[in-house]
Amino acid sequence: MSSELELGRYSVGVGDRFAHQAKAQLRACALAEQAGVDVIPVWNKSNREHNIIGSEPAQTRAAADAAVEALGWKKPYFCDADHINLTTVERFLGPCDFFTIDVADAIGRSASGASIEAFLKRRAGLVGKLQREGVDEAFEITPELLRATAVKFLFAVEEAGKVYRKIVNTKGKGRFIAEVSMDETDAAQTPAELLIILAAIADEGIPVQTIAPKFTGRFNKGVDYVGNIHQFRREMTLDVAAIAWAVKHFGLPPNLKLSVHSGSDKFSIYAAIHEATKQQGVHLKTAGTTWLEEIIGLAEAGGDGLALAREIYTEAYEHREELCGPYATVIDIDSAKLPEPGVVARWTSEQYTSALRHDPSSREYNSSFRQLLHVGFKIAAKMGPRYLELLEANEAVIAKNVTENLFQRHIAPVFLGKPAPVAAHTGAR
Ligand SMILES: [Zn+2]
Repeated sequence: MSSELELGRYSVGVGDRFAHQAKAQLRACALAEQAGVDVIPVWNKSNREHNIIGSEPAQTRAAADAAVEALGWKKPYFCDADHINLTTVERFLGPCDFFTIDVADAIGRSASGASIEAFLKRRAGLVGKLQREGVDEAFEITPELLRATAVKFLFAVEEAGKVYRKIVNTKGKGRFIAEVSMDETDAAQTPAELLIILAAIADEGIPVQTIAPKFTGRFNKGVDYVGNIHQFRREMTLDVAAIAWAVKHFGLPPNLKLSVHSGSDKFSIYAAIHEATKQQGVHLKTAGTTWLEEIIGLAEAGGDGLALAREIYTEAYEHREELCGPYATVIDIDSAKLPEPGVVARWTSEQYTSALRHDPSSREYNSSFRQLLHVGFKIAAKMGPRYLELLEANEAVIAKNVTENLFQRHIAPVFLGKPAPVAAHTGAR
């Protein structure tokens, strides 16, 4: 008789900056369903994104509800207040039923001596070698590591508790999915640290269903993973084992799973993610790359659409410093690879779309061009109705790109175990 909201084994977080593609995104989940795998859609939009665009969380909710209605989607779906904290959560409380509680900024600030000592006493049993089921490697938690992890993370988890309780006060217990995210920080958390953090989260009484650690390697926005794939695979397998152990011993929800804040398009680690999370499931959070499919669709349409796509690039190029600033830590643009706007102004539809579309086997694909446009959504936001009217006029071609991209390049490799797009040539980077 539980009426508590529960996130299924597989879920995908999608961004829809201009709230026009929810239907096309949902169609990708419907394709997964037809292929025999349930992938629950979660529409995520951060406070930063809302501020840049000038939108409200209620609009994301309205777009999601309308898409669900139009497609007759019968499975659950959610709206995620992405990366919120105590000061930004307020306007998300009504429309959202998934909260990504971001406490990365609080990492490293120390909790009170009393609460650290109480935690160490309560969790003294974690010290020792812990062998996890299904994993060859044991991880060892020394008294020093337990203390150091408490000093580094306990305050952040206490903060998460405050945010969680604030949400409970408005929405009620079990009426939303709680995620705790620690990905937007400098250092990756080790699987042993993750286990200790989960103990603290359990102590704080937060029924987390997803946890987003920071993994090793670079997760730049809209482009592939940069890092050691072997190490990523090992780390992820151990993280999954740590979660399984935490569920068993800390009383956390049995459906607790990893949330990978992928920044989208991490093709080279999709096979590793699929393998590691087949049992426990995974939440794959993508970034707002749907907006890039909107530009691809406009460029493909030719005429006014192509003209606008070129204009957006020109503006993005001219304002590149200001646009890249807030994203400096999650993009790597080689300015020598950025084409001059005058050159792009002569590009055909084909030239434009093959530079932008993330097809690593294409020689024309340009990751710097793609990343600049990815952070350039402010330009389109400023165009207001001019941009939105062209989106509407070219709905069919855009929707086709949105659905195909989400299903073929992301859902199929991560949840269905299909091959991810690969580079046909080497030395692309
Ligand atoms: Zn994140």
